[in-house]
Amino acid sequence: MNFELTDPQRQWRDEVRAFLRDNVTPELERERHIEGKLRFGPEARAFRKKVGDKGWWGLTWPREYGGLGKGAIEMHIMAREFDYAKVIPADTTYLSIAPMIMRYGTEENKRDFIPGITRGEVFAALGYSEPDAGTDLASLRTRAVLDGDQWVINGSKIWTSNAHGASHVWLCVRTDPDAPKRQGISVIMAPMNAKGIEVQPLICWSDYRTNQVFFTDVRVPRRNLIGEVNKGWGYITSALTHERSAVTTGGDLRREIDDLIEVCRSGLVGGVRLIDRLSVRQRLAELDADVEVMRLYGFRGASLIEAGEDPTATLTAQKIYNSELRQKIADFGTQILGMYGQLNWRDRDAPGRGDIERLYRYAPEVRFAGGTNEVLRDIIAQRGYGMPSYGRSARS
Ligand SMILES: Cc1cc2nc3c(=O)[nH]c(=O)nc-3n(C[C@H](O)[C@H](O)[C@H](O)COP(=O)(O)OP(=O)(O)OC[C@H]3O[C@@H](n4cnc5c(N)ncnc54)[C@H](O)[C@@H]3O)c2cc1C
Repeated sequence: MNFELTDPQRQWRDEVRAFLRDNVTPELERERHIEGKLRFGPEARAFRKKVGDKGWWGLTWPREYGGLGKGAIEMHIMAREFDYAKVIPADTTYLSIAPMIMRYGTEENKRDFIPGITRGEVFAALGYSEPDAGTDLASLRTRAVLDGDQWVINGSKIWTSNAHGASHVWLCVRTDPDAPKRQGISVIMAPMNAKGIEVQPLICWSDYRTNQVFFTDVRVPRRNLIGEVNKGWGYITSALTHERSAVTTGGDLRREIDDLIEVCRSGLVGGVRLIDRLSVRQRLAELDADVEVMRLYGFRGASLIEAGEDPTATLTAQKIYNSELRQKIADFGTQILGMYGQLNWRDRDAPGRGDIERLYRYAPEVRFAGGTNEVLRDIIAQRGYGMPSYGRSARS
């Protein structure tokens, strides 16, 4: 077993780092603190386009679809470096939706959406959760009915992150109400500017904006249905597995711990050098090792995808590990920084630009988003270890 990157992979990582060095401007860094601009502010959009101009959002697609034909490990390296730079979070459009379109989409779907995703112009919110379904995703009730050459959509989605800036929503709808519940579901790429879509903000404790979205007689071209009608459940569950790798590259945790060590080394926290305390040094060393385990987890998941093996159990375990580690780093950082840990990025005395304060408020979300850790543990038991289900009908 080789734990090192190959020479070409190292060169690729260095190329991504050089690009980030040249293009992560102070303006872009400032924008990431302002909620709502993290992904959709003018600097973030310009950055997304620059990445698109290089074809990197389509890194792993075949060249005939505008891609660069690289592998899942190269994709993971790029997403990790982006996460480390903290400017553009690894996102589900290129890491989760696009692979599903490539695998299950019709030729028309691929031609309609893949080039736009590659250029960074198509960016989709995920329309899975519903107010009365939650974990039991297959209970979704948003309906799509075919009327001539158009789908007519009615219903509501909740926790639809990014819906306020996305070009599309990757929307799960019920297309056959009489079929068993997992067999009557389809996926439609609905343009967010379609008439009848209303987006209402839901602001989390961390200031993170998610949304509730209402669909009233929304008309979408028939060709926007992904793959085959009523086959959506398989696409969604597969996309969810990939989503877990998207939200958990571990690059951001490496940055958090590097920054926290730096803060502890400096004398900025009430004039005290925290690193001089043995207990702080020991705990930092433990967390540093945990973050290294996360790195190995990330590359293991990417290796399984590259080898065409089922990554479900590994990526799911990775998501749990990542979200619980994030919470540990946030708790520890806030604890050792004392009152300084409560200063946010607007305060010039905030240690480490107030990132720990933000992390503390943000950490709980990742335990729910993409599936709650309680439910994911059950998925690992079933899919990873072949243990029997106890009758739960949740998203798998
Ligand atoms: C910040 C954030 C962003 C999100 N972004 C999106 C998004 O972009 N798109 C989208 O579609 N969704 C999104 N979600 C929704 C997320 O996927 C759901 O919150 C999650 O699936 C849980 O559903 P729920 O909130 O309805 O909780 P519930 O399903 O009501 O669960 C409540 C509690 O019960 C537990 N529970 C439920 N069922 C079981 C069971 N069978 N066994 C054991 N315990 C169980 C859960 O673990 C949880 O602790 C987001 C959520 C958050 C917090």
